[in-house]
Amino acid sequence: MADEIRQFVVGNIQTNCYAYISEGACMVVDPGASGARIAQALPDVRIELVVATHRHHDHVGGVKALVEACGAPWAISAADAPRATQALELSSHAFGSMLGDVEDPPEPDQLLHEGDELSVGTARFRVIAAPGHTEGGIVLLGQGGAEGICFVGDTLFAGSCGRTDLLGGDHATLMATLDRLCEEIPPETTVLCGHGEATTMVRELATNPWLNR
Ligand SMILES: [Zn+2]
Repeated sequence: MADEIRQFVVGNIQTNCYAYISEGACMVVDPGASGARIAQALPDVRIELVVATHRHHDHVGGVKALVEACGAPWAISAADAPRATQALELSSHAFGSMLGDVEDPPEPDQLLHEGDELSVGTARFRVIAAPGHTEGGIVLLGQGGAEGICFVGDTLFAGSCGRTDLLGGDHATLMATLDRLCEEIPPETTVLCGHGEATTMVRELATNPWLNR
């Protein structure tokens, strides 16, 4: 049976939450809000892992309710973990009371590092460290049954890239990350972004000004 990707747009900043499903097993990426509703929307799969591409509230704000509902462990990079449990407080000055159906996540069950591999069903994802938007952003590059897709969080968008003016952001670091992603992600890969439409590396290499500096 072919693997499947379901997409949920959640929260007040329209975050893309993805469910990657292989052999009935599911990995949820970036449950940014409304975790209980995400769990309810996936009654037919076993959620085995919840993973955040980075620590911002709009990517972890649904983790607590989701893991309470499904019992799965949740993972984030070791570099982003220290500030992940204060996600709401760190966003409140920028977003005020507009945070929506979000909660701080609990302490993570698993800390991710460059080169780690996540498995879901017969699919695998390689963790690529992608700092710049936050201290510890990661990209999940599909392997095996997931070859040809990549979750990039807020590091790369169709036609743009993540902002670097928030706490822990750094422009030069993000530029170095983007250069590295151009080498690591095969051109034909579908790029699933944290906000907005999906794209491909081919398209971004041709049109994204941040990849053509
Ligand atoms: Zn972000």
